[in-house]
Amino acid sequence: MAEQKLKRKNIKATDHLKQVMADYFYWMDRISTGKEEGKIAWCTSVGPAELLKAFDFEVHYPENHSSMLGATRLAMDYIPVANAIGYSPDICSYLTSDVGAYLKEETPLSKAYPGIGSVPRPDILAYNTNQCRDVQEWFEFYGREFGVPVVGITPPRSLVEVSEADITDVVAQLKAMIPTLEEVSGKKFDIVKFRESVRLSRQCSELWGKVLGLAAHVPSPWTFFDGTIHMGPAVCLRGTREANDYYKILKAELEERVENGVAAVEGERFRLYWEGMPVWGKLRALSEQFSGLQACVVVSTYCNSWIFSAFDESRPFESMAQAYTEIFINRAESVKEQYIEDLVDEFKVDGIIFHDSKTCPNNTNSRYGMPQRLQERPGIPCLVINGDLNDLRCYSEEQTRTNIEAFIEQLEERK
Ligand code: SF4
Repeated sequence: MAEQKLKRKNIKATDHLKQVMADYFYWMDRISTGKEEGKIAWCTSVGPAELLKAFDFEVHYPENHSSMLGATRLAMDYIPVANAIGYSPDICSYLTSDVGAYLKEETPLSKAYPGIGSVPRPDILAYNTNQCRDVQEWFEFYGREFGVPVVGITPPRSLVEVSEADITDVVAQLKAMIPTLEEVSGKKFDIVKFRESVRLSRQCSELWGKVLGLAAHVPSPWTFFDGTIHMGPAVCLRGTREANDYYKILKAELEERVENGVAAVEGERFRLYWEGMPVWGKLRALSEQFSGLQACVVVSTYCNSWIFSAFDESRPFESMAQAYTEIFINRAESVKEQYIEDLVDEFKVDGIIFHDSKTCPNNTNSRYGMPQRLQERPGIPCLVINGDLNDLRCYSEEQTRTNIEAFIEQLEERK
């Protein structure tokens, strides 16, 4: 089917988003450069942020920084620098691009936010291996570099059910972090603050879930590609009022689009699921190709990763342990498959694109027969594309374009 050139529809809330993110980065820079009092913690993207906030840490997320390196394609300059000190090209390219940028003393933050010279210096690093072991190695690297404590949680992995025993284990690990957090922050643990950050995170998560859910409408008011931009506050500012205020604004705008039947993709004909990591350096090209083919990517495992339904301030430790242990990436293949199947129904999806991301086996779900099973039993057409989140040497643009075109033709024939 012929690809058309279509104009992207801008989301008005984007200006507000830019301001929210700028405030976040500038505030952390002021602390890091000693202009304001405060302490900085680095945290993994699905790490124990709420506990850190209970000690008034400002939180920096290296994965967010890495996605900026990917989106700006600077990652390609930095990955070899990390490779040269022994971090393999086969491990997570978020890790290698971030470490490479650190070694070269460069950051895209400087260009996006004039006056910021570097990522904020950490006082402590906190990880959760619920997503992969790479985050532990990544944070240990910085722990050695900066000479600051590294604390972490290693929950049970690949779970079918999350049992009481699993929760007890993770709660004990969370509580074991407290003495170090007290020492570094100079503050006593305050359960009231902790409950408040859990409450705010739950609200953020609910709002984020609702805005993502609006894409279930036909036509969809926004796309996965919009979601990768607007997820910034859900990742970096969950547990704050600013994130929640932002999602109320975005939600109102998208609801208005739904009410007026405004489609993100003009003449939407196909509705797709994106499974796996984004290809950060090719978001625009992919978004334009899909739009041109009248295909809207309406749902993704990736954007949904920041919906934590379990948060409950009346049981802050237990609910936080539950929320971060039951996430998709930490589950058994059977649970993941059912989850995808349910979303395919809910979002009225015509086909699934699986991104086999070379350096992130953890967030790649096409390697154990899932696309074949989904094609056979519920009969959902699937396409597997090879690529990577940040390392564009693993991605062939031409091949991917051709495969996507052929896939959409296949969907057209089924209509
Ligand atoms: S989940 Fe994948 S992309 Fe994320 S830190 Fe781990 S290996 Fe890297």
